[in-house]
This record gives sequence, C-alpha cells and structure tokens, in this order.
Amino acid sequence: MYSIDLSGKTGLIVGVANENSIAWAIAKILAHAGVRLAFSYQNERLEAKVRALAEQLDDAIIVPCDVLEDHQIWTMYEEIKERLGHLDFLIHSVAFAPREALQGLYLDTRREDYLRALEVSSYSLIALAKHAVPLMTDGGSILALTYIASQRAVPRYNVMGTAKAALEQAVRQLAMELGPNGIRVNAISAGPVQTLAARGIQGFLSMYQAHREKAPLQRSIDKNEIATTALFLCSDMSSGITGSTVYVDAGYHIML
Ligand code: NAP
Repeated sequence: MYSIDLSGKTGLIVGVANENSIAWAIAKILAHAGVRLAFSYQNERLEAKVRALAEQLDDAIIVPCDVLEDHQIWTMYEEIKERLGHLDFLIHSVAFAPREALQGLYLDTRREDYLRALEVSSYSLIALAKHAVPLMTDGGSILALTYIASQRAVPRYNVMGTAKAALEQAVRQLAMELGPNGIRVNAISAGPVQTLAARGIQGFLSMYQAHREKAPLQRSIDKNEIATTALFLCSDMSSGITGSTVYVDAGYHIML
C-alpha cells in the first residue's frame, strides 16, 4: 500500500469509537507500516467495539481511559510502559461537547458545557502528552485532530470551535517545549467526515454538502487521506515539521 516502514515503533491511539472513527483509519495505516499500537477506550460501553477492532491487528494492547480521569490516564500509561516499554507516537482524536451546546446560539453556551468541551477536547492533549513524554525516549510525534471552526465562525459548531482554537494553540505551545526532546507536535485540520462525533453537530449534513461545493477539489475528503497525512507526520519524512496545522480538507480553508 505505502512504503513507509515504521517497524519497531509504538503508538497510542486515543479516540476509536467504531470502524468509522478517524482514529481507526489512522490506526490501520500505522499498523500496516509496522507500528505496534495501544488503544484506549472511554468506558465499558465501548470496550467490546474497540477490542473487536484492535484484535484485527497484530499484538495490539487495549486499555481503559476516560480522559476526564487523571488516575485512569496514569494507569493507562503504567500499562503501556510495562507492555510496550517506550512510545513513539501519540494520536489524540478525542472531542466532546454536550449536545445542547452544539444547538442554538453560542451566546447561550452554559458555563459547565463550555468547561466540559474544553476539558475533553483541548486539555486532554496536555494531560496525555505529559505522561507520553517520559516514554518518548527516542523522540516522537504527537498528533491532534482539529477543524477549521477554530479560525472561522461556523453556525452551530459553537463551543467546539473555541475548543479547537485552544487545541491548536496547545499544539504550538507543546511543540515549542518538546522540540528540544526531539518530539514533534502537529495538528491535522480535517474536512467534514461522517462519524459518530460529527452526527452530534446539528446541521452536519449541510456543512458536509457546502464543503463539497466550495472546496477547490470539489469533493469531500476520505478518512484515508487523513490517515496518510498522519503516517507522513509520524514518519521521518516530516522531520522538519512541528507546531503546524496541516489542512486535509480538499482546499476548503483557502476559500472565502
Ligand atoms: P468519533 O469516532 O466519534 O471519535 C471521537 C472520540 O472521542 C470517540 O472515541 C469518543 O468516545 C472520544 N471521547 C469523547 N469523550 C471522551 C472522553 N472523556 N475520554 C475518552 N475519549 C472520549 O469521531 P471522529 O469524527 O473520528 O473524531 C475524532 C477527532 O476528529 C475529534 O477530535 C474531532 O473533533 C476531529 N474532527 C472530526 C471531523 C469530522 O468531520 N468527523 C472533522 C475535523 C476534525 P465516545 O464515543 O465514548 O464519546
């Protein structure tokens, strides 16, 4: 398929909910390149699904982790340390906002919904990176998934746009601090893809349609295009890139 060889490398994938998840597309392509992967699942409701997917790959490990719980993050990394020894890649593909916050006006955003959205969707990158760094003894690559609503006003994307702006800034700040350790930190800004998280956004289908019409490539993107970019950003082919947001959106972001 692709000839990037990452055998001997290890990665943690956070954010597989089902076979449509962007994280799963990334996991498959990294596994194909030879990466041994650890997968986290948020709770028991999702365990069977994540386990069934992960078991399709060689030697994957599966660990629980709700990113809202510090002790679960700590326990997850203890298990990764014991079973993988070290870590080369961290893929952060997690986002959440309460449904009401993604409907109606941004002006009506409740304090608790704002805090929860930023905690799950932005702070979690810091919490996960903090424990990943000591395991990245030979440098590493950290990736987060973002969306253009971090830069623009998008109807009903509401507080998730705020969360993505914070996430992208965290990527830059972490890139600055971790560069001396040989750890690169980047974001992929993806065009709309039909997933579980996307379904929570009211009017997602019209966003999806508008994207296809406006994007220079006149189409939506495929999850595999996000995954190949992730593979590139994990590999040495991108060794000079850190602190960047790479758009995989058929060019939509350049349009007025
Ligand atoms: P997805 O399959 O629903 O993945 C989102 C993941 O976040 C799920 O596995 C979800 O688990 C997890 N999550 C939420 N709260 C969590 C928590 N407290 N602890 C641990 N995990 C938690 O949707 P996706 O579209 O692939 O989303 C992946 C990333 O891509 C997100 O950052 C999203 O914003 C970004 N993105 C998506 C699009 C798009 O159009 N789909 C475009 C640009 C960027 P649960 O199912 O249990 O909540």
